[in-house]
Amino acid sequence: MQKFIDIRGVKHAYKTKNGPLPVLDGLDVGVGEGEFCAVVGPSGCGKSTLTRLVSGLMRPDEGAVVLDGQEVSSPRKTVGMAFQNPVMLEWRTILENVMLPLEIVAPGMGRAEKEARATHLLEMVGLKGFEKKRPSELSGGMRQRASLCRAIVHKPQVLIMDEPFGALDNFTREDLWQTMRDLRAAEPFTCILITHDLRESVFLGDQVIVLSGRPARTQYVLDVDLPADRTIDILYEPKAVAMLHLL
Ligand code: ADP
Ligand code: MG
Repeated sequence: MQKFIDIRGVKHAYKTKNGPLPVLDGLDVGVGEGEFCAVVGPSGCGKSTLTRLVSGLMRPDEGAVVLDGQEVSSPRKTVGMAFQNPVMLEWRTILENVMLPLEIVAPGMGRAEKEARATHLLEMVGLKGFEKKRPSELSGGMRQRASLCRAIVHKPQVLIMDEPFGALDNFTREDLWQTMRDLRAAEPFTCILITHDLRESVFLGDQVIVLSGRPARTQYVLDVDLPADRTIDILYEPKAVAMLHLL
């Protein structure tokens, strides 16, 4: 059966002046509606490439990316994105930054309604009282919280996060993991999280996809459904093949 996000047999190479650079060589990922899919793999294995294919910024050379029954062939407004270094408009307040996607996706929505939606999300991530601040007045972790709100404010079909917590210190990062879980509990969304932090992938993911090899393939699909006190042991093989051993 086709999944909400269905990535089948995807192959992709970049054209470079030294000829084609194959990056993905047979990617199979299926994500159900409301599921959280974490994708891990070493640097350069094609994780960001995968996000570009799902968001429609690029088309695969072979195979298909299908989102809710429709092949993704051009950039979509219904995708929410979050990155390691969120870009915010410095001349706008945090609240206005979070409201931005609504101005694009829901131009008919009244200002009060947009504000209410953005305010509600900011409160959920612990930024109540910071609505009127400028982005530069916030810490890195707070800016990332605001960028999460902005990424889901318009209820996108899928939230794609490309190493969103990579630049944060460990304490802040783990706080944000919990915030992600709280957000999901309050408001279910379908998510693809790119990370090279295996702990993060297992903490947040309903399934973990391990990409490895050059060009990369789907190496393992792990259904994560472990008790809260779960522990994992992680081994890296010489070719940076990540293996997850569940104890
Ligand atoms: P990851 O996000 O896993 O670190 P990327 O998807 O960014 O990996 O990149 C995969 C490989 O493709 C890398 O070797 C990178 O240098 C190369 N690459 C990425 N984008 C381009 C591009 N636009 N043109 C040529 N090569 C690229
Ligand atoms: Mg990347």
